[in-house]
Amino acid sequence: MRNDSGALLKVDGLEAWYGESHILHGMKFDVHQGEVVTLLGRNGAGKSTTMRSIMGMVAKRKGSVSFDGTETIAMNSNKIARLGVALCPEERGIFASLNVKENMVLPPVVKPGGLPLSEVYELFPRLAERANSQGTKLSGGEQQMLAIARILRTGATMLLLDEPTEGLAPVIVQHIGDIIRKLKERGFTILLVEQNFHFAATVADRHYVVEHGHVIDMIPNADL
Ligand code: ATP
Ligand code: MG
Repeated sequence: MRNDSGALLKVDGLEAWYGESHILHGMKFDVHQGEVVTLLGRNGAGKSTTMRSIMGMVAKRKGSVSFDGTETIAMNSNKIARLGVALCPEERGIFASLNVKENMVLPPVVKPGGLPLSEVYELFPRLAERANSQGTKLSGGEQQMLAIARILRTGATMLLLDEPTEGLAPVIVQHIGDIIRKLKERGFTILLVEQNFHFAATVADRHYVVEHGHVIDMIPNADL
């Protein structure tokens, strides 16, 4: 077992509410620099709420979320983004009326060191080909690639990917796996929400099992 102290992202005793609904109950886990870690769990377990809470997007939350040693629990989402954390949400958020290139430059660059557009296109040649296509004309897989691609420009070093394989054909899922492995090689740290255990096993170092708003188990990838 690794020591907690070197964690890039450290979540401890995280609680979150939507209105009066208490959703997260003492979430605790950590992600080390350069790791790919998944949150696995059933529908409604609180995986997306965890991602949103880390990003400062759930108004009512308490506990501790530290990034690179900086406590972020009281910070707003813009400030958290500037530390170098970016979320690719389950809803993808592609603007239908904008083309690929316009969607690509929407997330603000928050930190130096983001990938130049040319390198993003190198990782996603399909998006380069479709640079002038409107959001509405993209397949589900292309939309998912665009949603991941555009956060690479922002300078974020920690990527939160919420179910990037959801609803995609097996060949596209494999492609997303290749991308995640390449991003790991480039030094990105990735927290991934997945329901597809088979896919999770092909990309991740460790897995946390989430149930009813807290972590019930940590599984090294070799044991999944
Ligand atoms: P899934 O696998 O279906 O995406 P999840 O693990 O990501 O599930 P969450 O989206 O975090 O689960 O939802 C956790 C709980 O919070 C669920 O009971 C859900 O109904 C509730 N919930 C989610 N978003 C909201 C919201 N905006 N307002 C109120 N309740 C919400
Ligand atoms: Mg979810």
